[in-house]
Amino acid sequence: MGHHEHDHHPPMPPGTLVAGHLPAIPALVRRRPRIAVVGGSLTGPVLALLLIQAGFDQVAVYEANPDLPTATGGVLSLEHTALDVLDRLDIAQHEYVKDGFETITQIRGYGPHDQRHRRRTYPGRFTTWTLLHHALAARLPTGVVQHGRRIADMTAERGRPMLHFTDGGREPADLVAYCDGRTSVGRRLLDPARRLHYAGYIAHRGTASTRPDDLDDFQRWEPCPGVQFNLAPVPGGADWIFFLNATAQQYTDWFGAPPRQRVYATTAQVSPAARDHVDAQAAAHLPAHLADLVHATSGRAALPVLDIAPPTRMAWPVGDGHACLLGDALAPPRAHTARGAVNGIEQADGLVTALRQHTRHGADLTGALLGWRRRHLLTAVAAVRQGPTIGARLGLGTRIDRP
Ligand SMILES: Cc1cc2nc3c(=O)[nH]c(=O)nc-3n(C[C@H](O)[C@H](O)[C@H](O)COP(=O)(O)OP(=O)(O)OC[C@H]3O[C@@H](n4cnc5c(N)ncnc54)[C@H](O)[C@@H]3O)c2cc1C
Repeated sequence: MGHHEHDHHPPMPPGTLVAGHLPAIPALVRRRPRIAVVGGSLTGPVLALLLIQAGFDQVAVYEANPDLPTATGGVLSLEHTALDVLDRLDIAQHEYVKDGFETITQIRGYGPHDQRHRRRTYPGRFTTWTLLHHALAARLPTGVVQHGRRIADMTAERGRPMLHFTDGGREPADLVAYCDGRTSVGRRLLDPARRLHYAGYIAHRGTASTRPDDLDDFQRWEPCPGVQFNLAPVPGGADWIFFLNATAQQYTDWFGAPPRQRVYATTAQVSPAARDHVDAQAAAHLPAHLADLVHATSGRAALPVLDIAPPTRMAWPVGDGHACLLGDALAPPRAHTARGAVNGIEQADGLVTALRQHTRHGADLTGALLGWRRRHLLTAVAAVRQGPTIGARLGLGTRIDRP
């Protein structure tokens, strides 16, 4: 047994400096900051797990949806950077990647002949929201996530950010990390000029309980301009997304509220008229076996495709503390970019790197957050810009109707 010098010292309050024993850094940074993570879907839990792994012991996740543990979602792509973060969290890949394909097959009905049928390698793997969310949630220590707690506002009190909940509760924090998705309250509070705009088309979604025999990777059907149909195997069947142009008025008629108000239409909100329209488009544009698959799918949903101005910042001072935006809260990219989950996970990883330098080595926190922005902002901007470019190439998004 070695000799433990510090055993001879009397107990000290945390943060006390002892010459010769601790590195000469300000006492303040030795206090572990209190970190509030807003949103418990994907970006939030990844951030919380990385923080806990890095030794941050005052982490709370506030999730608005009381039923999120029973929620389900469809196919998601994860590039190698994101997969590597999950590796580092010791989450076995087979837990969330059930079909190990690495390719995307594109079947196009127009354009140059050599580009009509192509199989490309995707630099990553495919999971589903359900699989990934459960793999993450299962690893969060009990008590870290508080479900059914919706943030309504944030103020600065006694120099620190103070979160206000719709249930009347209040919680202070040193750092607030908003991972609260497309309709982020954090973005509304911190960056109010950046609002969502309807892009002029809809992602109609379905989870089929059967799988076409030939479906062994991610299929992307583009029969004519203005129509894209994505199909991927998922546990128990196949997941499809059918992108079709529609005016904001059509969206409202079909799903009961305007696009910016109803950013996700559940199965119950999909009207018979919406279902008929999708079935008719499938019959008109897709091979018979896929039109039949669409027709037979009872589990439907829809999302209006929404754009947002590119972000210019990722972190803001709040009193002497900070608040930042990550994932879809920072900038929700269009689904075609396949960057949504990847951006959030990369940003969470980068944020923990910055915070570790701050607490371990006394790095200036504002500077560390600027470095974080420098490494991740351009990627977020690129994804947001890429969406309309891809949409235009596909004939999706009319841009004439954007209330
Ligand atoms: C149930 C569910 C299913 C999904 N399915 C798919 C899918 O099939 N395919 C796909 O591409 N993407 C899906 N997504 C979206 C996908 O997770 C994101 O596009 C992306 O991965 C980035 O995730 P995120 O964690 O940053 O944001 P999100 O996944 O949007 O998560 C934001 C979270 O914040 C919570 N929240 C929002 N406002 C507040 C508030 N004021 N206070 C507290 N909490 C708040 C929300 O309830 C949500 O859980 C799904 C999201 C959810 C929640």
